Amino acid sequence: MPVGTPGRPLRRRRTRSSIVDRWKGIAVTAAPLIGVSAQVIGQSGAHEWALVALAGIVGLLVGSFLNVVVHRVPLGLSVSAPRSFCPTCDRQLAWWENVPVISWTALRGRCRTCHERISIRYPLVEGGTAVTFALVTWAWRGSSPSAGYCALAATAIAVSLIEFGGARAPLSVGAAGVGLGQLLLAVAAVWLGRWSLLGWSLTGLTLGGLALAGLRGADPDARDARFHGRTLLPTTGCWLGGIAGAGSVTGVVAGGAAWVLAEFGCLVVLWAVRNRGRPPALASAPLVTGTLVAMVVSLTVAG
Ligand SMILES: [Zn+2]
Repeated sequence: MPVGTPGRPLRRRRTRSSIVDRWKGIAVTAAPLIGVSAQVIGQSGAHEWALVALAGIVGLLVGSFLNVVVHRVPLGLSVSAPRSFCPTCDRQLAWWENVPVISWTALRGRCRTCHERISIRYPLVEGGTAVTFALVTWAWRGSSPSAGYCALAATAIAVSLIEFGGARAPLSVGAAGVGLGQLLLAVAAVWLGRWSLLGWSLTGLTLGGLALAGLRGADPDARDARFHGRTLLPTTGCWLGGIAGAGSVTGVVAGGAAWVLAEFGCLVVLWAVRNRGRPPALASAPLVTGTLVAMVVSLTVAG
């Protein structure tokens, strides 16, 4: 839902957190679905699909939060306050107007009071994050590393959307996301006793961090749009490391090939859509698409 526009300063007098407000909508949507999923998880066979569905629901909620991040972070505003409101009539949104996808659909993409159009970007980001989370969880067969890779995917989505909008994503967004992702992967590694998972993702994170440090030296003021995607290098490094550690040589080779193809395909699309003489050589969107495709292909081939 709308969270303010660049031309209109956000009002500070509202004190309740948009996150708290959001969680009410989230709780109402998620509670019955989580209840049903928990029932299904209890039955053998359906376990994996129930987790995929659950990941999709969590993805909807995370997508709702990413909308706030993508909109407010480039403006230097807090993501927690003020609460979400209509940028046209300034009316504070009720919790039920913040339910991912459902609110936008029920209101037919317009504000309840002033009837101004609400961008379709909001439900698309929510739905897209849900599909990504479900895909990641399906690729990992619902096992515990899914959570870490979902966190990395959310980070990648936030960074690419901020940069797709023309702003450079601050390092803090990438750092917070990759930190959470790595922490969740560490928990999964301890849980499964699978230390290679931690080792490979840390190796990827280190290599990505070094590449980022090198590129910062090459373009310290971040004026060159070709270097925009560099914020994502530690995230994708950590992510690709996990693919390398998935255990099958065939899987890694297939994943690598899929990464090159998806990256190239995405670059061609971006080139056609946004040909402004600035080749998106390292742009974040191809990087995240390529990595996601590579992981799914690699894990599917590895079985
Ligand atoms: Zn309005």
